[in-house]
Amino acid sequence: MRVPVGGPREVAELAAELNRMIETGERRDEDLRRFRAAMDISGDAILLIDRATLRYVDVNQTFCEMLGYTRQEILGKTPMDVFSADRATLERDYDALIADKHSSANVVEGEYRRKDGTQVPVEARRRAVHTEHGWIIVATATDITQRKRAEEYLRQSEERFRRTFEIAGSGVAHIGLDRRFLRVNRRLCEILGYSEAELLALTGRDISHPDDRDVINAQRPRLYSGELSAVRVEKRYMRKDGSSVWVAFTMTVERDSKGQALYEIAIFDDISSRKEAEAALRAAHDELERSNAELEQFAYVASHDLQEPLRMVASYTQLLGRRYADRLEGDAKEFMAFIVDGAARMKQLIEDLLAYSRVGTRGKEFQIVKLDAVVERARINLRAALEDSGGAITHDALPVVEGDELQLTQLLQNLAGNALKFRGEAKPLIHVSCIEREHEFEITVRDNGIGIEAQYFERIFMVFQRLHDKGQYPGTGIGLAICKKVVDRHHGRIWVESTPGQGSAFKFTLPKHRDRLAA
Ligand code: ADP
Repeated sequence: MRVPVGGPREVAELAAELNRMIETGERRDEDLRRFRAAMDISGDAILLIDRATLRYVDVNQTFCEMLGYTRQEILGKTPMDVFSADRATLERDYDALIADKHSSANVVEGEYRRKDGTQVPVEARRRAVHTEHGWIIVATATDITQRKRAEEYLRQSEERFRRTFEIAGSGVAHIGLDRRFLRVNRRLCEILGYSEAELLALTGRDISHPDDRDVINAQRPRLYSGELSAVRVEKRYMRKDGSSVWVAFTMTVERDSKGQALYEIAIFDDISSRKEAEAALRAAHDELERSNAELEQFAYVASHDLQEPLRMVASYTQLLGRRYADRLEGDAKEFMAFIVDGAARMKQLIEDLLAYSRVGTRGKEFQIVKLDAVVERARINLRAALEDSGGAITHDALPVVEGDELQLTQLLQNLAGNALKFRGEAKPLIHVSCIEREHEFEITVRDNGIGIEAQYFERIFMVFQRLHDKGQYPGTGIGLAICKKVVDRHHGRIWVESTPGQGSAFKFTLPKHRDRLAA
């Protein structure tokens, strides 16, 4: 006879053999003692049930401990009292075991109710054994609390993962090393316009835009070698309906504990609307540049070509005035004066327009410019106006910038000139200061003039926009438009802050170009 080792099959076989031995009178008490010992050292519960009465006829120590009953208490009970199955089910199972000892009822899961009312999940293995007293069901029961707990933990974590995967606002996919989609979420199906089943039969390459097929492939070796932890690219995919979709694609590789690649995890974000907006912006920008250039050219040609006939009008009217002045009557002289005045104003307008159009077409290449020197130059150019008004221009230490010196002089001169022109009762005082920011200088030209109402802060920078008639203050309304154009060309911004009656502060920015300035 083999030594019993506690497994259910061995125990059952032992019981069967014991049965036979007892029947033939071969062995007696000694074997029973061995059988008992084997039962009691088993870590699994072992129990014998009489099929006819359904009573426990013998149980081991482990079973008693598992349920919290004494042996005596158990022996008075039936499986229906402590196991989670009703009599009919148990009887059916037991009869199946009797009919065929390898039947499916051999292994079952269920719960025992302990004496204290708590439950213990078990896996039970059973076999029927025939004895001279009838059929006995031999069973072992293993406590599977730990296994159940681990299974529940795994189930919950898989559920959490599945839900996260499903509700993600981005498309998510697991991609096999053969590039086939292994798992895809609902959002990815929406982005690509395929059903889940359809996607699972495809590779990323199958649905990539023909021009973007190798965008990811180019990076894969560095990702697999571990040089990159993730790859991020923007590329196009072809949707099922034939349209294309722009996607921001991020991919990383999932590896096993030895570092072997298992599959790729990829995130897809639909960026079509951003790409469309970018393209529209680019197109609008190109169109604006083109029409601006055209307009500039037109203004230049028009103002240039208008000068000649205007000169004719002006000079022949003057000639007429000189030669025939004594023959003209009162009204005619006055009309003549209007024509001369109109021609002079038109000349001024044309010259200003020409100057305006030249900011774009005749600009010089940018050089290093000392703004201190620019203010000095503007002061010299405005000497007459300064003397007439008794005004003064002062300035703080000003930076060195990169730009077109002539145009920057024109800018400062126009701003200072306006400050002298639109002066109040007091002597005009103009001060130029500068604040240094991280990427730019902000320059302020402050005056103590008549000021501007807030509603006109933007309008005054437009061509021919003036707030006063020419009788009050001379001008054509082009000076600030030129200032704006110069600042635009230098990639800065210009604006005004002012309180009527208290003066104005015209401010503009000039970007810094550290690297080139240092060189
Ligand atoms: P212009 O000087 O020929 O009128 P600008 O384009 O230089 O044209 O200025 C537009 C308008 O902005 C001016 O007519 C004036 O009303 C207002 N303005 C400009 N500079 C000042 C200033 N320093 N103070 C008050 N108003 C100003």
